[in-house]
Amino acid sequence: MPVESKQIIEAHDLLKKFYHHLLVNTKEGQDALEYLLQRGFTEETIDKFQIGYSLDSWDFVYKFLTKRGYEPELLEKAGLTILRERDGTYFDRFRNRIMFPIMDHQSNTVAFSGRALGSDEPKYLNSPETPVFNKSQVLYNFHAARPHIRKKEQVVIFEGFADCISAVRAGVEQSVATMGTSLTEQHIQMLKRNTDHVLICYDSDAAGMNAANRSLNMLLQSGFQVKVAVMPDQLDPDDYIKKYGEKSFNSEVIGASLTHMAFKMLFLRKGKNLNNEGDRIQYIEDILQEISRLANPVERDHYLRQLSSEFSLSLDALEQQQRQVFFSEK
Ligand code: ATP
Ligand code: MN
Ligand code: MN
Ligand code: MN
Repeated sequence: MPVESKQIIEAHDLLKKFYHHLLVNTKEGQDALEYLLQRGFTEETIDKFQIGYSLDSWDFVYKFLTKRGYEPELLEKAGLTILRERDGTYFDRFRNRIMFPIMDHQSNTVAFSGRALGSDEPKYLNSPETPVFNKSQVLYNFHAARPHIRKKEQVVIFEGFADCISAVRAGVEQSVATMGTSLTEQHIQMLKRNTDHVLICYDSDAAGMNAANRSLNMLLQSGFQVKVAVMPDQLDPDDYIKKYGEKSFNSEVIGASLTHMAFKMLFLRKGKNLNNEGDRIQYIEDILQEISRLANPVERDHYLRQLSSEFSLSLDALEQQQRQVFFSEK
């Protein structure tokens, strides 16, 4: 690893420890700590995920790290400070935020994501791309989840840090989260080296459902067995756990997750009125298209029969229609 990368990681590691100290032991961190506790984070979780607090200061990080021998240019390259063009001075990127350290697959601290305490914008602020951090290659908590992913032969993917953290506390230790972007091919390759089973557990709002559908399609393309967890009332996993408890999350969300086809049926039905003929025909075509993508003939047969009985259509007609759909796709 280049010396520069090593130094960037060291600086992050030092800062991570200090941010954590500020959160749990100091008066300056008190409001942030109260915010987290009131959200349902426990002290144990705060320690486990090494969560911290960045001071409400323009130059704390700059002073803290330059005093310890780090060059100003390096800190800027690390994304920890920002250069003021007008006078060539620097200011801290992260101020007055809850700090989530981001580790790469080798447990190097490579970035931070900072959450605003109140309704400040943006809600989450991430480190920029640096020589050691590329968010399309990093999954939050992957380094800690990996042995559990292998043991449980499954990975659960979340949209948010808070969702991932709450799930781990609820015993779902094979949990990772994307960094505020969609799932990438690089993420998928990382996962593929460890398991063939993915459970998508995104927010159950419209944005989350659309994102889940996109991730599902990509994961199927890469040969994964995929399930999707859906929660009521457009909740996100963290909200769900707070509202209904960890036990219910395990049995009613993780345990009751939908198979790939069951999710497609739910998703493709959204916004359609199946009593309306045009909507109904469109839905049947969409489902037929999904069925024709299934590799397993027994599965294809199963879903064709299900569709035929749900809409009182002959299997013959469906099979004929499917061949048309299939050929029009090629
Ligand atoms: P919280 O529970 O703290 O309000 P959340 O995880 O439910 O956060 P969402 O709005 O559902 O927040 O967003 C999901 C994820 O998207 C976040 O965890 C974060 O990683 C990312 N994200 C959200 N808002 C921003 C933003 N303004 N800039 C960058 N990333 C963001
Ligand atoms: Mn969301
Ligand atoms: Mn959310
Ligand atoms: Mn949330």
